[in-house]
Amino acid sequence: MSLKVENLVVYYCMRRGDCKAVEDVTFEIQAGDSVGLVGESGCGKSTVAFAILRMLPEPGEIMGGHILLDDVDIATLDPEEMRNFRWTQIAMVFQGAMNALNPILRVSDQITEAMLRHDSELTKDEAKEKTKDLFKLVGMDPDRIDHYPFEFSGGMKQRAMIVMALACDPKFLIADEPTTALDVTVQAQIMALLQKLVAELGITLMLITHDLSVVAETCNNVFIMYAGKIVETGAVLEIFQHPWHPYAQGLISSIPSIEKSSDQTLASIPGSPPNLLDPPPGCRFHPRCKFVQDLCKTEDPPLLDVSPGHRAACHLASGRIKDDKWAPGKEEGKR
Ligand code: SF4
Repeated sequence: MSLKVENLVVYYCMRRGDCKAVEDVTFEIQAGDSVGLVGESGCGKSTVAFAILRMLPEPGEIMGGHILLDDVDIATLDPEEMRNFRWTQIAMVFQGAMNALNPILRVSDQITEAMLRHDSELTKDEAKEKTKDLFKLVGMDPDRIDHYPFEFSGGMKQRAMIVMALACDPKFLIADEPTTALDVTVQAQIMALLQKLVAELGITLMLITHDLSVVAETCNNVFIMYAGKIVETGAVLEIFQHPWHPYAQGLISSIPSIEKSSDQTLASIPGSPPNLLDPPPGCRFHPRCKFVQDLCKTEDPPLLDVSPGHRAACHLASGRIKDDKWAPGKEEGKR
């Protein structure tokens, strides 16, 4: 199942003003692909996911744009149509597995509830059998489906959350920070499991994370977000080797290298993300960008092709401004 997001705009409309959380976001994910949506906390990654699922928390609102899942514009479905569409076509593994399960309900009851809601011909026994099959698929003991969440470890809870997302056989899966709060060995197991699901079930995966190394391990393509906008997209290897946008360059340069000495100084991006109630005009990254020029302060750079399959939103990348110190893939000479 493919996903096309066109000019998506999402605001949180508050008394203090509109928080412009997602502004004019456009991207496409081909069926069977696995894509990482990356950026620092508050950049709008999860808001994009909740908008796609039409589950934006109040006072979030889709102000414009289209969300096409295999030609169905889900931004225009009525609530009942969307309820039927959600979980059967597109599902989400929610952030925070440790707290996402209801502690007073058996895990099987929480999983079968979605199955029974979406398939009126399915019996309770059949739903439990399907839950056992899914437990096996994610490497869990099927005899434990009737346990309570407190009887599960963190990694098991995350696997149970993945089972819940797979309950109605969705073709598109959004995984929102699926490894947060898990130790590194369990993180690796969960990411391997997601890769297996993509390969074996033909699921299309959108992985939301701030961890570039997780994306490098799991995804074919990566979209980098900054302050509610997509600033660079492309194949994982291409972006890691030749980032064009100064923000992407900074992110990639901040990854520690195992080839360098242990006392290496990590690169960092000065400043902090802007307040989206009043984002800076022009390029939203300009207050933190060391290459900033006058044009950047007034004109928002569009996302343009810089090489086949690789796009960046920067006036340097489009050639509208020049700086001798900037080059694709280079950042402070530290890479
Ligand atoms: Fe920096 Fe200007 Fe490019 Fe924005 S458009 S990233 S401010 S050089």
